[in-house]
Amino acid sequence: MDTLRPFPKLPATPREFGFYIDGAWHAGREMFERASPGHGVAVSRIPRCTSDDLNAAVVAARNAFEDRRWAGISGAARAAVLLRAAEILKRRRSEIAYWESLENGKPISQAMGEIDHSIACFEIGAGAARMLHGDSFNSLGDDLFGMVLREPIGVVGLITPWNFPFLILCERVPFILASGCTLVVKPSEVTSATTLLLAEVLEEAGLPKGVYNVITGSGRSIGQALTEHPDVDMLSFTGSTAVGRSCVHASADSNFKKLGLELGGKNPIIVFADADLEDAADAAAFGISFNTGQCCVSSSRLIVERSVAAEFEALLAAKMAKIRVGDPLDPDTQVGAITTDAQNQVILGYIAKGQAEGAKIAIGGTVKDLGHGQYIQPTLFTGVTPEMAIARDEIFGPVLCSMPFDTVEEAIALANDTVYGLAASLWTKSIDKALTVTRRVRAGRFWVNCIMAGGPEMPLGGFKQSGWGREAGKYGVEEYTQIKSVHIETGKRNHWIA
Ligand code: NAP
Repeated sequence: MDTLRPFPKLPATPREFGFYIDGAWHAGREMFERASPGHGVAVSRIPRCTSDDLNAAVVAARNAFEDRRWAGISGAARAAVLLRAAEILKRRRSEIAYWESLENGKPISQAMGEIDHSIACFEIGAGAARMLHGDSFNSLGDDLFGMVLREPIGVVGLITPWNFPFLILCERVPFILASGCTLVVKPSEVTSATTLLLAEVLEEAGLPKGVYNVITGSGRSIGQALTEHPDVDMLSFTGSTAVGRSCVHASADSNFKKLGLELGGKNPIIVFADADLEDAADAAAFGISFNTGQCCVSSSRLIVERSVAAEFEALLAAKMAKIRVGDPLDPDTQVGAITTDAQNQVILGYIAKGQAEGAKIAIGGTVKDLGHGQYIQPTLFTGVTPEMAIARDEIFGPVLCSMPFDTVEEAIALANDTVYGLAASLWTKSIDKALTVTRRVRAGRFWVNCIMAGGPEMPLGGFKQSGWGREAGKYGVEEYTQIKSVHIETGKRNHWIA
Protein backbone atom coordinates (compact mmCIF):
# COMPACT_ATOMS: atom_id res chain seq x y z
CA MET A 1 0.00 0.00 0.00
CA ASP A 2 1.25 3.50 -0.81
CA THR A 3 1.38 6.39 1.67
CA LEU A 4 0.28 10.01 1.79
CA ARG A 5 3.83 11.39 1.85
CA PRO A 6 5.00 13.65 0.38
CA PHE A 7 2.04 16.00 0.95
CA PRO A 8 0.21 16.01 -2.44
CA LYS A 9 0.18 19.20 -4.56
CA LEU A 10 -2.56 20.67 -6.73
CA PRO A 11 -2.34 19.71 -10.44
CA ALA A 12 -0.49 22.32 -12.54
CA THR A 13 -3.32 22.36 -15.10
CA PRO A 14 -6.84 20.87 -15.00
CA ARG A 15 -6.89 17.24 -16.14
CA GLU A 16 -9.09 16.60 -19.17
CA PHE A 17 -11.27 13.48 -18.99
CA GLY A 18 -13.23 11.68 -21.71
CA PHE A 19 -16.36 9.58 -21.27
CA TYR A 20 -16.43 5.79 -21.65
CA ILE A 21 -18.73 3.72 -23.84
CA ASP A 22 -18.29 0.16 -25.10
CA GLY A 23 -14.69 -0.03 -23.92
CA ALA A 24 -13.64 3.15 -25.76
CA TRP A 25 -12.86 6.68 -24.60
CA HIS A 26 -14.58 9.62 -26.26
CA ALA A 27 -13.67 13.30 -26.11
CA GLY A 28 -16.39 15.71 -24.97
CA ARG A 29 -17.60 18.39 -27.35
CA GLU A 30 -18.76 20.64 -24.53
CA MET A 31 -16.81 20.55 -21.24
CA PHE A 32 -17.52 21.41 -17.59
CA GLU A 33 -14.60 22.73 -15.52
CA ARG A 34 -14.48 21.67 -11.87
CA ALA A 35 -12.65 23.75 -9.27
CA SER A 36 -11.39 22.13 -6.05
CA PRO A 37 -13.74 23.34 -3.29
CA GLY A 38 -10.81 23.39 -0.86
CA HIS A 39 -8.71 25.72 -3.01
CA GLY A 40 -10.90 27.35 -5.66
CA VAL A 41 -8.48 26.12 -8.36
CA ALA A 42 -9.64 24.34 -11.56
CA VAL A 43 -8.61 20.67 -11.32
CA SER A 44 -10.63 18.74 -13.92
CA ARG A 45 -12.50 19.16 -17.19
CA ILE A 46 -15.43 16.77 -17.65
CA PRO A 47 -17.51 16.16 -20.83
CA ARG A 48 -21.13 17.23 -21.00
CA CYS A 49 -22.64 14.22 -22.77
CA THR A 50 -25.59 14.52 -25.14
CA SER A 51 -28.69 12.35 -25.43
CA ASP A 52 -27.00 10.63 -28.42
CA ASP A 53 -24.11 9.70 -26.10
CA LEU A 54 -26.59 8.34 -23.57
CA ASN A 55 -28.35 6.28 -26.23
CA ALA A 56 -25.01 4.88 -27.42
CA ALA A 57 -24.13 3.90 -23.83
CA VAL A 58 -27.46 2.13 -23.33
CA VAL A 59 -27.10 0.30 -26.67
CA ALA A 60 -23.59 -0.85 -25.63
CA ALA A 61 -24.85 -2.06 -22.27
CA ARG A 62 -27.86 -3.77 -23.92
CA ASN A 63 -25.68 -5.58 -26.47
CA ALA A 64 -23.23 -6.65 -23.77
CA PHE A 65 -26.11 -8.02 -21.73
CA GLU A 66 -28.03 -9.77 -24.52
CA ASP A 67 -25.05 -11.56 -26.08
CA ARG A 68 -24.26 -13.00 -22.62
CA ARG A 69 -20.56 -12.04 -22.72
CA TRP A 70 -20.92 -11.27 -18.98
CA ALA A 71 -24.16 -12.84 -17.74
CA GLY A 72 -23.33 -16.10 -19.53
CA ILE A 73 -19.97 -16.77 -17.87
CA SER A 74 -19.63 -18.51 -14.52
CA GLY A 75 -19.85 -16.72 -11.20
CA ALA A 76 -16.26 -17.80 -10.65
CA ALA A 77 -15.14 -16.03 -13.84
CA ARG A 78 -16.99 -12.86 -12.83
CA ALA A 79 -15.44 -13.11 -9.36
CA ALA A 80 -11.95 -13.33 -10.89
CA VAL A 81 -12.47 -9.97 -12.65
CA LEU A 82 -13.75 -8.36 -9.43
CA LEU A 83 -10.77 -9.68 -7.44
CA ARG A 84 -8.34 -8.37 -10.08
CA ALA A 85 -10.09 -4.98 -9.83
CA ALA A 86 -9.55 -5.05 -6.05
CA GLU A 87 -5.82 -5.66 -6.59
CA ILE A 88 -5.56 -2.81 -9.11
CA LEU A 89 -7.36 -0.49 -6.69
CA LYS A 90 -4.78 -1.34 -4.02
CA ARG A 91 -2.07 -0.25 -6.46
CA ARG A 92 -3.89 2.97 -7.46
CA ARG A 93 -5.22 3.77 -3.99
CA SER A 94 -3.50 7.12 -3.39
CA GLU A 95 -4.14 8.37 -6.96
CA ILE A 96 -7.88 7.72 -6.68
CA ALA A 97 -7.99 9.19 -3.15
CA TYR A 98 -6.23 12.29 -4.52
CA TRP A 99 -8.88 12.90 -7.19
CA GLU A 100 -11.66 12.21 -4.69
CA SER A 101 -10.20 14.76 -2.30
CA LEU A 102 -9.59 17.34 -5.05
CA GLU A 103 -13.10 17.28 -6.51
CA ASN A 104 -15.06 16.67 -3.30
CA GLY A 105 -13.01 18.60 -0.73
CA LYS A 106 -12.81 15.69 1.73
CA PRO A 107 -9.62 15.09 3.75
CA ILE A 108 -7.20 12.93 1.80
CA SER A 109 -6.63 10.60 4.75
CA GLN A 110 -10.39 9.99 4.90
CA ALA A 111 -10.48 9.44 1.13
CA MET A 112 -7.77 6.77 1.52
CA GLY A 113 -9.98 4.98 4.06
CA GLU A 114 -12.86 5.13 1.58
CA ILE A 115 -10.73 3.51 -1.13
CA ASP A 116 -9.92 0.71 1.35
CA HIS A 117 -13.65 0.24 1.95
CA SER A 118 -14.19 0.22 -1.82
CA ILE A 119 -11.57 -2.50 -2.23
CA ALA A 120 -13.48 -4.55 0.36
CA CYS A 121 -16.67 -4.02 -1.69
CA PHE A 122 -14.99 -5.62 -4.71
CA GLU A 123 -13.78 -8.53 -2.57
CA ILE A 124 -17.25 -9.10 -1.10
CA GLY A 125 -18.76 -8.64 -4.58
CA ALA A 126 -16.51 -11.45 -5.82
CA GLY A 127 -17.85 -13.71 -3.08
CA ALA A 128 -21.40 -12.69 -3.95
CA ALA A 129 -20.83 -13.60 -7.62
CA ARG A 130 -19.88 -17.14 -6.60
CA MET A 131 -22.55 -17.60 -3.94
CA LEU A 132 -25.54 -16.25 -5.87
CA HIS A 133 -27.98 -19.06 -6.49
CA GLY A 134 -31.63 -19.93 -6.84
CA ASP A 135 -33.78 -22.41 -4.95
CA SER A 136 -35.66 -25.64 -5.49
CA PHE A 137 -38.99 -27.07 -4.34
CA ASN A 138 -39.01 -30.80 -3.78
CA SER A 139 -42.36 -30.45 -2.03
CA LEU A 140 -44.78 -30.32 -5.00
CA GLY A 141 -45.38 -34.08 -5.13
CA ASP A 142 -43.45 -36.77 -6.97
CA ASP A 143 -44.65 -35.68 -10.42
CA LEU A 144 -43.78 -31.99 -10.24
CA PHE A 145 -40.49 -30.35 -9.44
CA GLY A 146 -40.07 -26.64 -8.83
CA MET A 147 -36.96 -24.51 -9.42
CA VAL A 148 -36.46 -20.84 -8.72
CA LEU A 149 -33.88 -19.29 -11.03
CA ARG A 150 -32.22 -16.06 -10.05
CA GLU A 151 -31.45 -14.07 -13.21
CA PRO A 152 -29.74 -10.70 -13.71
CA ILE A 153 -32.28 -7.95 -14.25
CA GLY A 154 -30.51 -6.58 -17.33
CA VAL A 155 -29.23 -3.06 -18.04
CA VAL A 156 -28.87 -0.98 -14.87
CA GLY A 157 -28.69 2.82 -14.80
CA LEU A 158 -26.68 4.06 -11.82
CA ILE A 159 -26.85 7.68 -10.63
CA THR A 160 -24.55 8.67 -7.76
CA PRO A 161 -24.16 11.85 -5.65
CA TRP A 162 -21.14 14.06 -4.92
CA ASN A 163 -20.68 13.35 -1.20
CA PHE A 164 -19.00 9.91 -1.51
CA PRO A 165 -18.45 9.64 -5.27
CA PHE A 166 -16.20 6.57 -5.21
CA LEU A 167 -17.45 4.83 -2.07
CA ILE A 168 -21.11 4.94 -3.12
CA LEU A 169 -20.13 3.83 -6.63
CA CYS A 170 -18.23 0.85 -5.18
CA GLU A 171 -21.01 -0.08 -2.76
CA ARG A 172 -23.05 -0.75 -5.93
CA VAL A 173 -20.89 -1.60 -8.96
CA PRO A 174 -19.33 -4.88 -7.69
CA PHE A 175 -22.77 -6.19 -6.74
CA ILE A 176 -24.35 -5.11 -10.03
CA LEU A 177 -21.49 -6.87 -11.84
CA ALA A 178 -21.69 -9.91 -9.56
CA SER A 179 -25.32 -10.40 -10.59
CA GLY A 180 -24.41 -10.50 -14.30
CA CYS A 181 -26.00 -7.14 -15.15
CA THR A 182 -24.41 -4.47 -17.35
CA LEU A 183 -24.58 -0.78 -16.52
CA VAL A 184 -24.52 2.88 -17.49
CA VAL A 185 -23.28 5.18 -14.72
CA LYS A 186 -23.97 8.90 -14.38
CA PRO A 187 -21.90 10.42 -11.54
CA SER A 188 -22.54 13.89 -10.16
CA GLU A 189 -21.09 16.39 -12.61
CA VAL A 190 -18.94 18.01 -9.91
CA THR A 191 -17.27 14.73 -8.86
CA SER A 192 -16.99 12.60 -12.01
CA ALA A 193 -13.24 11.88 -12.09
CA THR A 194 -13.08 8.76 -9.94
CA THR A 195 -16.06 7.10 -11.68
CA LEU A 196 -14.11 7.52 -14.93
CA LEU A 197 -10.93 6.18 -13.30
CA LEU A 198 -12.87 3.06 -12.30
CA ALA A 199 -13.42 2.39 -16.03
CA GLU A 200 -9.63 2.15 -16.45
CA VAL A 201 -9.43 -0.21 -13.47
CA LEU A 202 -12.20 -2.50 -14.73
CA GLU A 203 -10.76 -2.57 -18.26
CA GLU A 204 -7.35 -3.64 -16.90
CA ALA A 205 -9.09 -6.24 -14.72
CA GLY A 206 -10.51 -7.83 -17.89
CA LEU A 207 -14.15 -6.70 -17.78
CA PRO A 208 -15.60 -7.22 -21.27
CA LYS A 209 -16.34 -4.13 -23.36
CA GLY A 210 -19.79 -2.60 -22.96
CA VAL A 211 -20.42 -3.96 -19.47
CA TYR A 212 -19.44 -0.75 -17.61
CA ASN A 213 -20.20 2.54 -19.38
CA VAL A 214 -19.91 6.08 -18.00
CA ILE A 215 -21.70 9.15 -19.27
CA THR A 216 -21.09 12.53 -17.66
CA GLY A 217 -23.02 15.77 -17.46
CA SER A 218 -25.57 17.45 -15.25
CA GLY A 219 -28.36 15.67 -13.43
CA ARG A 220 -31.08 17.85 -14.89
CA SER A 221 -30.10 16.97 -18.47
CA ILE A 222 -28.36 13.61 -18.83
CA GLY A 223 -29.39 12.25 -15.41
CA GLN A 224 -33.06 12.92 -16.05
CA ALA A 225 -32.77 11.33 -19.52
CA LEU A 226 -31.29 8.18 -17.96
CA THR A 227 -34.19 7.91 -15.50
CA GLU A 228 -36.63 8.16 -18.43
CA HIS A 229 -34.80 5.81 -20.79
CA PRO A 230 -37.13 3.05 -22.03
CA ASP A 231 -34.36 0.48 -22.49
CA VAL A 232 -32.96 0.62 -18.94
CA ASP A 233 -34.34 -2.24 -16.83
CA MET A 234 -33.44 -0.92 -13.39
CA LEU A 235 -32.30 2.40 -11.97
CA SER A 236 -30.24 2.61 -8.81
CA PHE A 237 -30.39 6.21 -7.63
CA THR A 238 -28.59 7.68 -4.64
CA GLY A 239 -29.27 11.31 -3.84
CA SER A 240 -31.92 13.64 -2.53
CA THR A 241 -35.47 12.60 -1.72
CA ALA A 242 -36.75 15.27 -4.16
CA VAL A 243 -34.90 13.78 -7.14
CA GLY A 244 -35.77 10.27 -5.89
CA ARG A 245 -39.42 11.26 -6.24
CA SER A 246 -38.82 12.41 -9.83
CA CYS A 247 -37.21 8.98 -10.54
CA VAL A 248 -40.48 7.32 -9.44
CA HIS A 249 -42.44 9.50 -11.88
CA ALA A 250 -39.93 8.87 -14.67
CA SER A 251 -40.17 5.12 -14.15
CA ALA A 252 -43.98 5.18 -14.19
CA ASP A 253 -44.01 7.38 -17.30
CA SER A 254 -41.49 5.26 -19.24
CA ASN A 255 -41.13 1.49 -18.85
CA PHE A 256 -41.78 0.79 -15.12
CA LYS A 257 -38.07 0.18 -14.62
CA LYS A 258 -37.33 -1.28 -11.20
CA LEU A 259 -35.99 1.32 -8.76
CA GLY A 260 -33.44 1.17 -5.98
CA LEU A 261 -33.56 4.47 -4.08
CA GLU A 262 -31.10 5.57 -1.40
CA LEU A 263 -32.23 9.00 -0.29
CA GLY A 264 -31.94 11.54 2.51
CA GLY A 265 -31.87 11.21 6.28
CA LYS A 266 -32.27 13.18 9.50
CA ASN A 267 -30.73 10.60 11.74
CA PRO A 268 -31.01 10.49 15.53
CA ILE A 269 -28.21 9.76 17.99
CA ILE A 270 -29.91 8.80 21.26
CA VAL A 271 -27.86 9.10 24.45
CA PHE A 272 -29.16 7.65 27.73
CA ALA A 273 -27.84 8.84 31.10
CA ASP A 274 -26.27 5.41 31.77
CA ALA A 275 -24.10 5.54 28.62
CA ASP A 276 -20.34 5.99 28.61
CA LEU A 277 -20.69 9.73 28.03
CA GLU A 278 -17.07 10.22 26.89
CA ASP A 279 -17.49 7.57 24.18
CA ALA A 280 -20.92 8.88 23.19
CA ALA A 281 -19.64 12.48 22.92
CA ASP A 282 -16.73 11.40 20.73
CA ALA A 283 -19.18 9.46 18.52
CA ALA A 284 -21.60 12.41 18.33
CA ALA A 285 -18.76 14.76 17.30
CA PHE A 286 -17.66 12.27 14.63
CA GLY A 287 -21.22 11.51 13.52
CA ILE A 288 -21.98 15.13 12.60
CA SER A 289 -18.53 16.23 11.40
CA PHE A 290 -17.44 13.25 9.28
CA ASN A 291 -17.40 14.30 5.60
CA THR A 292 -18.40 17.82 6.82
CA GLY A 293 -21.81 16.40 7.73
CA GLN A 294 -22.47 15.92 4.00
CA CYS A 295 -23.34 12.35 4.71
CA CYS A 296 -26.71 10.64 4.32
CA VAL A 297 -26.18 8.78 7.63
CA SER A 298 -24.88 11.81 9.59
CA SER A 299 -26.35 11.76 13.09
CA SER A 300 -27.81 15.26 12.98
CA ARG A 301 -30.35 15.06 15.83
CA LEU A 302 -28.92 14.54 19.31
CA ILE A 303 -31.65 13.13 21.57
CA VAL A 304 -30.18 13.14 25.07
CA GLU A 305 -31.64 12.19 28.46
CA ARG A 306 -32.49 15.41 30.31
CA SER A 307 -30.69 14.47 33.53
CA VAL A 308 -27.31 14.53 31.71
CA ALA A 309 -28.15 16.88 28.82
CA ALA A 310 -26.24 19.95 30.05
CA GLU A 311 -23.20 17.89 31.07
CA PHE A 312 -23.22 16.00 27.78
CA GLU A 313 -23.61 19.13 25.63
CA ALA A 314 -20.64 20.75 27.41
CA LEU A 315 -18.51 17.62 26.92
CA LEU A 316 -19.47 17.43 23.26
CA ALA A 317 -18.83 21.14 22.62
CA ALA A 318 -15.35 20.80 24.15
CA LYS A 319 -14.59 17.87 21.86
CA MET A 320 -15.98 19.63 18.75
CA ALA A 321 -13.77 22.65 19.47
CA LYS A 322 -10.71 20.43 18.94
CA ILE A 323 -11.71 19.11 15.47
CA ARG A 324 -9.05 19.98 12.88
CA VAL A 325 -10.80 21.77 9.99
CA GLY A 326 -8.33 22.42 7.20
CA ASP A 327 -6.88 21.89 3.74
CA PRO A 328 -8.17 18.57 2.33
CA LEU A 329 -4.71 17.68 1.01
CA ASP A 330 -3.14 17.94 4.48
CA PRO A 331 -3.02 14.39 5.89
CA ASP A 332 -3.72 15.74 9.40
CA THR A 333 -7.03 17.40 8.42
CA GLN A 334 -10.16 15.83 9.95
CA VAL A 335 -12.82 18.02 8.30
CA GLY A 336 -12.31 19.46 4.82
CA ALA A 337 -14.19 21.83 2.53
CA ILE A 338 -17.91 22.09 1.75
CA THR A 339 -18.27 20.44 -1.67
CA THR A 340 -20.36 22.97 -3.61
CA ASP A 341 -21.07 26.69 -3.37
CA ALA A 342 -24.79 25.95 -3.29
CA GLN A 343 -24.42 23.54 -0.34
CA ASN A 344 -22.24 26.08 1.49
CA GLN A 345 -25.05 28.63 1.19
CA VAL A 346 -27.66 26.08 2.34
CA ILE A 347 -25.68 25.24 5.50
CA LEU A 348 -24.97 28.87 6.38
CA GLY A 349 -28.65 29.62 5.76
CA TYR A 350 -29.70 26.94 8.30
CA ILE A 351 -27.19 28.23 10.86
CA ALA A 352 -28.82 31.67 10.56
CA LYS A 353 -32.31 30.15 10.64
CA GLY A 354 -31.57 28.13 13.79
CA GLN A 355 -30.54 31.30 15.61
CA ALA A 356 -33.61 33.14 14.32
CA GLU A 357 -35.78 30.25 15.58
CA GLY A 358 -34.35 30.73 19.07
CA ALA A 359 -31.83 27.88 19.32
CA LYS A 360 -28.45 28.62 20.91
CA ILE A 361 -25.05 27.95 19.34
CA ALA A 362 -22.91 26.04 21.86
CA ILE A 363 -19.93 25.76 19.50
CA GLY A 364 -19.13 26.59 15.87
CA GLY A 365 -21.62 28.41 13.67
CA THR A 366 -18.88 30.27 11.83
CA VAL A 367 -16.97 29.95 8.58
CA LYS A 368 -13.28 29.12 8.82
CA ASP A 369 -11.14 31.38 6.65
CA LEU A 370 -8.09 29.56 5.23
CA GLY A 371 -7.62 32.19 2.51
CA HIS A 372 -8.96 29.73 -0.08
CA GLY A 373 -11.95 27.40 -0.42
CA GLN A 374 -15.09 27.17 1.74
CA TYR A 375 -15.01 25.78 5.28
CA ILE A 376 -17.54 25.71 8.14
CA GLN A 377 -16.76 24.93 11.79
CA PRO A 378 -18.76 21.95 13.12
CA THR A 379 -21.73 23.44 14.95
CA LEU A 380 -23.82 22.37 17.94
CA PHE A 381 -27.24 23.95 18.56
CA THR A 382 -28.80 23.54 22.01
CA GLY A 383 -32.29 24.52 23.13
CA VAL A 384 -33.75 23.03 19.94
CA THR A 385 -37.44 22.07 19.80
CA PRO A 386 -38.83 19.41 17.43
CA GLU A 387 -40.81 21.82 15.25
CA MET A 388 -37.80 23.99 14.32
CA ALA A 389 -36.61 23.73 10.70
CA ILE A 390 -33.09 22.82 11.88
CA ALA A 391 -34.61 19.81 13.71
CA ARG A 392 -36.75 18.68 10.75
CA ASP A 393 -34.86 19.38 7.50
CA GLU A 394 -31.86 17.46 6.24
CA ILE A 395 -29.21 20.23 6.38
CA PHE A 396 -26.44 18.06 4.90
CA GLY A 397 -23.73 19.93 6.75
CA PRO A 398 -21.87 19.87 10.09
CA VAL A 399 -24.84 21.14 12.14
CA LEU A 400 -26.10 19.12 15.12
CA CYS A 401 -29.33 19.90 17.03
CA SER A 402 -29.69 18.81 20.66
CA MET A 403 -33.10 17.94 22.13
CA PRO A 404 -33.71 16.48 25.63
CA PHE A 405 -36.01 13.57 26.60
CA ASP A 406 -37.28 12.17 29.92
CA THR A 407 -38.56 8.66 29.18
CA VAL A 408 -37.75 5.78 26.82
CA GLU A 409 -41.12 6.30 25.08
CA GLU A 410 -40.31 9.97 24.53
CA ALA A 411 -36.88 9.10 23.10
CA ILE A 412 -38.49 6.66 20.64
CA ALA A 413 -41.17 9.19 19.65
CA LEU A 414 -38.59 11.93 19.04
CA ALA A 415 -36.37 9.56 17.02
CA ASN A 416 -39.35 8.59 14.83
CA ASP A 417 -40.57 12.19 14.43
CA THR A 418 -39.20 12.55 10.89
CA VAL A 419 -40.21 11.64 7.36
CA TYR A 420 -36.87 9.86 7.00
CA GLY A 421 -35.67 6.47 8.30
CA LEU A 422 -32.11 5.94 7.18
CA ALA A 423 -29.94 5.36 10.27
CA ALA A 424 -29.80 5.71 14.05
CA SER A 425 -27.18 5.47 16.78
CA LEU A 426 -27.96 4.58 20.38
CA TRP A 427 -25.86 4.83 23.52
CA THR A 428 -26.78 2.95 26.72
CA LYS A 429 -25.39 0.22 28.97
CA SER A 430 -28.88 -1.26 29.43
CA ILE A 431 -29.66 -4.25 27.19
CA ASP A 432 -33.40 -3.67 27.79
CA LYS A 433 -33.25 -0.09 26.55
CA ALA A 434 -30.94 -1.01 23.66
CA LEU A 435 -33.25 -3.73 22.35
CA THR A 436 -36.49 -1.83 22.96
CA VAL A 437 -35.30 1.29 21.16
CA THR A 438 -33.64 -0.65 18.32
CA ARG A 439 -36.85 -2.56 17.64
CA ARG A 440 -39.13 0.49 17.79
CA VAL A 441 -37.16 3.14 15.87
CA ARG A 442 -37.80 2.97 12.14
CA ALA A 443 -34.39 3.12 10.46
CA GLY A 444 -32.56 0.92 7.97
CA ARG A 445 -29.22 0.97 9.80
CA PHE A 446 -28.77 0.92 13.55
CA TRP A 447 -25.60 1.36 15.60
CA VAL A 448 -25.66 0.44 19.30
CA ASN A 449 -22.74 1.92 21.27
CA CYS A 450 -21.02 2.64 17.96
CA ILE A 451 -21.55 4.84 14.91
CA MET A 452 -21.07 4.37 11.14
CA ALA A 453 -19.51 0.97 11.84
CA GLY A 454 -19.69 -2.07 9.55
CA GLY A 455 -18.58 -3.31 6.18
CA PRO A 456 -20.00 -4.19 2.76
CA GLU A 457 -21.24 -7.54 4.12
CA MET A 458 -24.09 -5.61 5.77
CA PRO A 459 -27.04 -4.20 3.76
CA LEU A 460 -27.58 -0.43 3.36
CA GLY A 461 -30.88 1.32 2.83
CA GLY A 462 -33.72 3.25 4.39
CA PHE A 463 -37.22 3.10 5.80
CA LYS A 464 -39.92 5.67 4.98
CA GLN A 465 -38.83 8.51 2.63
CA SER A 466 -35.19 7.43 2.87
CA GLY A 467 -35.72 5.02 0.02
CA TRP A 468 -36.51 1.62 -1.42
CA GLY A 469 -34.40 -1.52 -1.52
CA ARG A 470 -30.99 -2.40 -0.13
CA GLU A 471 -27.46 -2.15 -1.46
CA ALA A 472 -24.28 -4.17 -0.72
CA GLY A 473 -23.68 -7.71 0.46
CA LYS A 474 -26.02 -10.65 -0.09
CA TYR A 475 -29.15 -8.48 0.04
CA GLY A 476 -27.65 -5.91 -2.33
CA VAL A 477 -26.71 -8.34 -5.08
CA GLU A 478 -30.17 -9.92 -4.95
CA GLU A 479 -31.75 -6.51 -5.73
CA TYR A 480 -30.13 -6.69 -9.18
CA THR A 481 -31.73 -10.04 -9.95
CA GLN A 482 -35.23 -11.22 -10.66
CA ILE A 483 -36.53 -14.63 -9.91
CA LYS A 484 -38.22 -17.02 -12.30
CA SER A 485 -40.36 -19.92 -11.11
CA VAL A 486 -39.83 -23.05 -13.22
CA HIS A 487 -42.20 -26.05 -12.99
CA ILE A 488 -41.09 -29.41 -14.41
CA GLU A 489 -43.52 -32.30 -14.75
CA THR A 490 -41.75 -35.62 -14.35
CA GLY A 491 -44.76 -37.94 -14.53
CA LYS A 492 -47.45 -38.58 -17.16
CA ARG A 493 -49.85 -35.66 -17.72
CA ASN A 494 -53.31 -36.02 -16.18
CA HIS A 495 -55.34 -35.18 -19.32
CA TRP A 496 -57.89 -32.34 -19.35
CA ILE A 497 -59.67 -33.67 -22.46
CA ALA A 498 -61.03 -37.14 -21.88
P1 NAP B 1 -29.11 15.17 -5.82
O1 NAP B 1 -29.18 16.59 -6.20
O2 NAP B 1 -30.37 14.41 -5.73
O3 NAP B 1 -28.10 14.50 -6.89
C1 NAP B 1 -27.79 13.14 -6.86
C2 NAP B 1 -27.48 12.69 -8.26
O4 NAP B 1 -28.63 12.87 -9.08
C3 NAP B 1 -26.36 13.48 -8.95
O5 NAP B 1 -25.67 12.63 -9.85
C4 NAP B 1 -27.13 14.51 -9.74
O6 NAP B 1 -26.40 15.02 -10.84
C5 NAP B 1 -28.32 13.69 -10.19
N1 NAP B 1 -29.52 14.46 -10.51
C6 NAP B 1 -29.85 15.72 -10.14
N2 NAP B 1 -31.06 16.05 -10.67
C7 NAP B 1 -31.49 14.96 -11.36
C8 NAP B 1 -32.66 14.67 -12.11
N3 NAP B 1 -33.64 15.56 -12.26
N4 NAP B 1 -32.77 13.46 -12.66
C9 NAP B 1 -31.79 12.53 -12.52
N5 NAP B 1 -30.66 12.75 -11.84
C10 NAP B 1 -30.51 13.97 -11.26
O7 NAP B 1 -28.39 14.92 -4.45
P2 NAP B 1 -27.00 15.50 -3.97
O8 NAP B 1 -27.22 16.91 -3.58
O9 NAP B 1 -25.95 15.21 -4.98
O10 NAP B 1 -26.72 14.56 -2.72
C11 NAP B 1 -27.23 14.86 -1.50
C12 NAP B 1 -28.43 13.99 -1.18
O11 NAP B 1 -28.13 12.64 -1.40
C13 NAP B 1 -28.81 14.09 0.28
O12 NAP B 1 -30.19 14.16 0.40
C14 NAP B 1 -28.28 12.80 0.87
O13 NAP B 1 -28.92 12.38 2.04
C15 NAP B 1 -28.49 11.86 -0.25
N6 NAP B 1 -27.62 10.69 -0.14
C16 NAP B 1 -28.17 9.52 0.24
C17 NAP B 1 -27.37 8.39 0.40
C18 NAP B 1 -27.95 7.09 0.84
O14 NAP B 1 -27.26 6.06 0.77
N7 NAP B 1 -29.19 7.05 1.31
C19 NAP B 1 -26.01 8.49 0.17
C20 NAP B 1 -25.49 9.71 -0.20
C21 NAP B 1 -26.32 10.80 -0.37
P3 NAP B 1 -25.63 16.44 -10.76
O15 NAP B 1 -25.00 16.50 -9.40
O16 NAP B 1 -24.65 16.34 -11.87
O17 NAP B 1 -26.66 17.48 -10.97
